[in-house]
Amino acid sequence: MADCSFHPGKDAVGACVSCGKMLCIACRTELHDKVYCPSCANKLFVHADDVKVAPSAPVVQSVSGAWWLLVILPLLFGGWNWIGGIIAWAVNKGKDPKKARSMLIWGIVISVIYIILAVIFLVLVLAGFLVVSLPGVLQQ
Ligand SMILES: [Zn+2]
Ligand SMILES: [Zn+2]
Repeated sequence: MADCSFHPGKDAVGACVSCGKMLCIACRTELHDKVYCPSCANKLFVHADDVKVAPSAPVVQSVSGAWWLLVILPLLFGGWNWIGGIIAWAVNKGKDPKKARSMLIWGIVISVIYIILAVIFLVLVLAGFLVVSLPGVLQQ
C-alpha cells in the first residue's frame, strides 16, 4: 500500500479523484460520495462559493407606523376600521406580510368591538326610553 502524499509513513486509504494523490484517513475528504485531497476539496469549495449565489432572504421592508392611523382612526368616524385594515393590508402585504396581517386583524377587531359597543349603547338607550315612557304608557 502506498503512503499518503501529504503524510509520508502513513498508509493511504484512497486517492483523490481530482489530482490522484494518495490520501491517508486524515486527508481523505469526501464530497458527494467522491474522495478528494484537502487542497482539491478547498479548491472545489472556493469555486462553488464563487458560483453559487446565496439565496437571498426575503427582504422585509419597513412599513410606516402611520398606517396604524388608518386602522385605528376610523373609530371616530363610524367604525370603518375594517376597511382601513384591508387597505393597510393590501398596500403593505408585499413589504411586511406579518405587520400587514396584524393591521388587517386589528382593523376587523376594532370594528367588531365598535359594533358591539354600538349595540350595547342602542340597547341602553332603548331600555332607558322604555323605563321613562312605560309608566306613561301603562297609565293610559
Ligand atoms: Zn487532489
Ligand atoms: Zn495524509
